[in-house]
Amino acid sequence: MANNSTDTIAVATGNAHKLTEIETILGRALPGVRFVSWKAFGDFEDPEETGTTFAENALIKARASVAATGCASVADDSGLVVDALDGEPGVYSARYAGVHGDDDANNEKLLVKLDGVEENRRTARFVSVVALVYPDGRELVGEGTCEGMVGFAGRGTHGFGYDPLFLPSDTPGKTMAELTPEEKNAISHRFHALENLCAQLAAQVDEA
Ligand code: IMP
Repeated sequence: MANNSTDTIAVATGNAHKLTEIETILGRALPGVRFVSWKAFGDFEDPEETGTTFAENALIKARASVAATGCASVADDSGLVVDALDGEPGVYSARYAGVHGDDDANNEKLLVKLDGVEENRRTARFVSVVALVYPDGRELVGEGTCEGMVGFAGRGTHGFGYDPLFLPSDTPGKTMAELTPEEKNAISHRFHALENLCAQLAAQVDEA
């Protein structure tokens, strides 16, 4: 970590599931670094996610955390992209049914929108973009996807968001919510985005 040395990274999310995933995966590339929710630094207001892409929103959140905490900060923006719905809910995944973070209402709306859509047309992917921003202004962006399809009814109790409805191609017959956290971490869009970020960090160390 020659030119990226930092002992604390603020994680700009209020979502405990995401904090754990980010800490587990990014921690492998950044041994000894503490990952702390940016909310532990103060009662900061979440920035408005005004971007039209996952990358724009991830950068908005990470930059806001750097400005608030003074620490290097990581943020992810993610969502579900459904082919039969021209990419909906996309960047609006968290507030698809109107209220931010109402997972039950979002899942219900998705099922209604896909009513009558046959199995072979229910292809979808989770997309994650993870931004790492340093106080000196350097910015890295990692991207990842998890391919699969939207089921016809929710199953499973793990995870959050659209997990009960999403059947990853990597785990035939199982929804994301039926996977253990370890199984999800091994295939998730955030895993792939964080791996992509780790590869960029490693390349920087090699160059230094
Ligand atoms: P964000 O927190 O602004 O990135 O919004 C992401 C939204 O996309 C969440 O509220 C969920 O609805 C959905 N989402 C993102 N990642 C996942 C996941 O791993 N499982 C299920 N839903 C997810």
